[in-house]
Amino acid sequence: MNCDFLIVGAGFAGSVLAERLNSIGKKVILIDKRDHTGGNCCDYYDSSGVLVHKYGPHYFRTNFQDVKEYLSKFTSWRKHEYRIRASINGLLYPLPINRDTLNNFFKINLRTEKEAKEFLNSKRSPIKNPKNAEEQVLAFAGREIYDAFFKNYTTKQWGIHPRELDASVTARIPIRTNTDDRYVNDLFQAMPEDGYSKVFENLLKNIEVILTADFKRVKHRIKFKTLLYTGPIDEFFDYKYGRLPYRSLRFRFETHNKEFYQDWSQINYPNDYKYTRIVEIKHATGQIIPNTTIVKEYPCEKGSPFYPIPNPDNQKIYLRYKRAAEKLNNVYFIGRLAQYRYLNMDQIVKEALDLFKTLKNKYQL
Ligand SMILES: Cc1cc2nc3c(=O)[nH]c(=O)nc-3n(C[C@H](O)[C@H](O)[C@H](O)COP(=O)(O)OP(=O)(O)OC[C@H]3O[C@@H](n4cnc5c(N)ncnc54)[C@H](O)[C@@H]3O)c2cc1C
Repeated sequence: MNCDFLIVGAGFAGSVLAERLNSIGKKVILIDKRDHTGGNCCDYYDSSGVLVHKYGPHYFRTNFQDVKEYLSKFTSWRKHEYRIRASINGLLYPLPINRDTLNNFFKINLRTEKEAKEFLNSKRSPIKNPKNAEEQVLAFAGREIYDAFFKNYTTKQWGIHPRELDASVTARIPIRTNTDDRYVNDLFQAMPEDGYSKVFENLLKNIEVILTADFKRVKHRIKFKTLLYTGPIDEFFDYKYGRLPYRSLRFRFETHNKEFYQDWSQINYPNDYKYTRIVEIKHATGQIIPNTTIVKEYPCEKGSPFYPIPNPDNQKIYLRYKRAAEKLNNVYFIGRLAQYRYLNMDQIVKEALDLFKTLKNKYQL
């Protein structure tokens, strides 16, 4: 088998690059070790007819106009701003924490942003440069919020104490002084009308895709000029500098004979149960069907590599791999596994579109 570009991994990174390169006449082969395309964004109809997300809920959101325009060639959209709740002592609170969360949790009556800011200031611990995920929350919201909403959730999610995690882990979650209860405030928030797997089917219409094909196993059979690699970077180098640790998830799906199981697409359980959250994706997909499927997520150590664990030691290991990668010719590392970084779908699509431009210039395609 011959091609110009061998692309490893059929998630958004690999599939967008495959589509772009094919569109300018390049011969592309796309392989994935799984038995489906779409990477972690894969969805499917379960035996009860509910469209479910195989690897956890994927809500599409972006501020990148070019990403939205590009993907809109492969799907129409269903507008959806998603809202989630945290269950604390049996009561549900808006998450991210906003003024309503503060009022309900502390049983007070803050009426303006100014009042909420002043209240938060009075709660904050005097930490100037938060060094870890615990200090980050203490500095922004104080001890009570940290203990109720963050401490146990973060420990359950990551398997280590928030003190051992980078501040970036909890910095990702904003604390609001208004009453906006959307999880994110990106300009465009929507779900692909017919699901993610359909987007990938459309992206890859003219591409030669080989599934259940692990790179190490098939690479000797494929002749390529350039390699675009979206798998784990440590695996590519046979773990010569050690393994990059990931947190994984076990999913327990349950079908229920009622239209909806809960009022929100996601409820987080920081302090109860072994699972972190219950997701009912039907709220987001908008599917009209008399039954529903929920999924409980149990964080675990072993399994598919989902979340890179951000701390200084792991970053050091990653940088050694990155330096080794930079020495290779005609090999490019892209995507969340190859960069050992948590990235949202739109960021990945953006990076793939940018790399396509770089390749076009470099090889004068
Ligand atoms: C639980 C969870 C929830 C998420 N929710 C959201 C969300 O709501 N919104 C959002 O924007 N983003 C979300 N994300 C992030 C999103 O999944 C990623 O941005 C996106 O999947 C990254 O695309 P990718 O192509 O880099 O990686 P992936 O989708 O992981 O694709 C990489 C592919 O490479 C394949 N591969 C790996 N090694 C090899 C090998 N050796 N040989 C062949 N193939 C190989 C894998 O099988 C995989 O299919 C979530 C992620 C997780 C884990």
